[in-house]
Amino acid sequence: KKKEWAKLKNEPSVTADGVQVELVANIGTPEDLESVQNNGGEGVGLYRTEFLYMGRDELPTEEEQFEAYKKVTEEMGEKPVVIRTLDIGGDKELPYLDLPKEMNPFLGFRAIRLCLEKDDMFRVQLRALLRAGAFGNLKIMFPMIATLEEFRQAKAMLDDEKQKLKDEGVEVGENIEVGIMVEIPSTAVMAPQFAKEVDFFSIGTNDLIQYTMAADRMNEQVSYLYQPYNPAILNLVKMVIDASHQEGKWTGMCGEMAGDEIAIPLLVGLGLDEFSMSATSILPARSQLSKLTKKDAEEVAKEALRLNTSEEVESLVLKRFL
Ligand code: PEP
Ligand code: MG
Repeated sequence: KKKEWAKLKNEPSVTADGVQVELVANIGTPEDLESVQNNGGEGVGLYRTEFLYMGRDELPTEEEQFEAYKKVTEEMGEKPVVIRTLDIGGDKELPYLDLPKEMNPFLGFRAIRLCLEKDDMFRVQLRALLRAGAFGNLKIMFPMIATLEEFRQAKAMLDDEKQKLKDEGVEVGENIEVGIMVEIPSTAVMAPQFAKEVDFFSIGTNDLIQYTMAADRMNEQVSYLYQPYNPAILNLVKMVIDASHQEGKWTGMCGEMAGDEIAIPLLVGLGLDEFSMSATSILPARSQLSKLTKKDAEEVAKEALRLNTSEEVESLVLKRFL
């Protein structure tokens, strides 16, 4: 199998009937790029910037961030690099921010909620991103968006910093796409409205499943509810993809589900454009894609949407594809 995968390293990601998708990688630091290149990644679908902020005792400066974002963007050349703004809180803490302990950290003051409030900190990151955007195909993504107002507020801060940088004579990326993560059910349901304002969606299934099933992703005792193939999840995913295509936008997925062997045929069938996964999953996924047709995948996905349980969906995919 390893040999077969290696042959696909520089090949496009296409189904047996010639439909092309994008297979990109999730990274945490610029050092992860080596593995992305070695595994034939077509870009970066999620750069988790939290790691720049963690394991230290003060905020990273604009310059430090700029260097990291520029490095990744430059190294990938024309390939897309989706950089997510700070997603702290929940399971990821930053001791030096001195945030109060919460009863429900996953439902609390985290990610974009915290960034919009602490906008001095957020604007530093936005400036670094705008500047790095001049060096390649960088895209900006906001995490944990629950309402249109949050997106508009974040976008307004971004536009504001862009204007300021230009007034200062600093070079910025001119055509940076700005998208959101869809990881809260309200946002999946409102996808048709969001699709008119964002440039792209990336579905964060790690959180979307947790919030849809009301099952803490860190709690073993409720892990049986963590069901990527549950028709509820598949229907939400479909709503998001359809809404984006209606407006001529694209949808990716950067949760674990995107690299999952059983999920892949379903996601192809639902029309997902970009699959972002750990680098080592890319070649196996490309191989799997090359052996299935979009036509069959569509038929199976359509049937899956109407099934009753996660188990029924899993059996259907196993029977038809694996
Ligand atoms: C997700 O929620 O699916 C996701 C990719 O973000 P994280 O795992 O960093 O919360
Ligand atoms: Mg998430």
